[in-house]
Amino acid sequence: MKNRFQIAVFHGDGIGPEIMKPTQAILSHLEKRTDAYSLTFDVAPAGAAHYAETGESLPQSSLDKARNADAILLSAMGLPSIRYEDGTEISPQIELRKALDLFAGVRPVRIYKGLHSPLSLKDHDHIDFVLIRESTEGLFFSQGAGEVTNDEATEVLKITRKTSEKLFRFAFELANLRKRSGEGRGHVTCVDKANVFRAFAFFRELFNEEAVKHPQLTFDHAYVDATALWMVQKPWIFDVMVTENMFGDILSDLGAGLMGGLGLAPSADMGEHHAVFQPCHGSAPDIAGNNIANPFAMILSAAMMLDWLGQKHHNSTMVEDGKHLRQAVYDVVNEGTQTTADLGGNASTDEACSAVVKALQA
Ligand code: ATP
Repeated sequence: MKNRFQIAVFHGDGIGPEIMKPTQAILSHLEKRTDAYSLTFDVAPAGAAHYAETGESLPQSSLDKARNADAILLSAMGLPSIRYEDGTEISPQIELRKALDLFAGVRPVRIYKGLHSPLSLKDHDHIDFVLIRESTEGLFFSQGAGEVTNDEATEVLKITRKTSEKLFRFAFELANLRKRSGEGRGHVTCVDKANVFRAFAFFRELFNEEAVKHPQLTFDHAYVDATALWMVQKPWIFDVMVTENMFGDILSDLGAGLMGGLGLAPSADMGEHHAVFQPCHGSAPDIAGNNIANPFAMILSAAMMLDWLGQKHHNSTMVEDGKHLRQAVYDVVNEGTQTTADLGGNASTDEACSAVVKALQA
């Protein structure tokens, strides 16, 4: 059993460093309590501010650090005021996705009583499902290469057998893991628009090919428009849902909204060999430098990292620490006095992080 882990850390831009630093401190606090694992952090410079300074947004040395690490922690990157010469924003996180073949964007949606969700849970104790967004092709395939003339614009949607097979295998394996740990019921929903587009009929066909290999799990299909409706009306019907890149982009923000906002939405971009853990939100330049950013999405992403490393390396202490960390954040949100302004409180970033450490000690 491996118990020493090298973590590549991208501090990023805007509020990025403000939420990463205390998150790292919380992880250090956790690993110091145990002999079961240790974490070493290796800072990887990248992002918009780094580009402004050096002319490079993702240096080869930082990409190498990411490639050689056991896991990658990344806070928000990019600033609207600093762009490439062609006017596009700097987003090394997208370059990382491509370079490390991180085809599965994993977006857990967990709603507990006490979170400021716009939903009423009715007679449900909590809601817990995971959205998997394909992250390397779909409608983002032609990103930056769409054709625009005076009269028309064309973008290409691409679905490949190779990526879809990996994606669906990943989705069913995750459903299996969730079933075994009691988090889910072992059900996978393919979200598409197979009634209108041939590409999505193909997507669904490939999903079905994988589904029959997992007789212990159940599956169904849903159109993306109906899925948006049901995520609001009856989100408890979902366990693992898997979808195309653009649909996933939109539905994951809906999921964040259901949890009470971007400040509580963690995520991971995963491939077969690497995984990046980062909050769903951006670098929030409008509030950067004021110590008021909500660190919880970053901390919850770090909890996902502990869980993933623990599962992968059969280290049950790490899995437990991931759970404790997640619970500590929910306890602080539920208690309500040490939350940042976006959650209705008036705590600073540092105060919110200290409250999480206290909750961990309780
Ligand atoms: P991107 O395109 O990089 O995802 P974005 O333009 O969608 O970024 P964000 O940077 O996520 O936007 O910010 C959207 C709004 O949410 C802003 O008003 C920002 O201040 C707020 N926000 C984002 N993250 C946080 C956070 N962690 N704490 C508090 N407010 C936040």
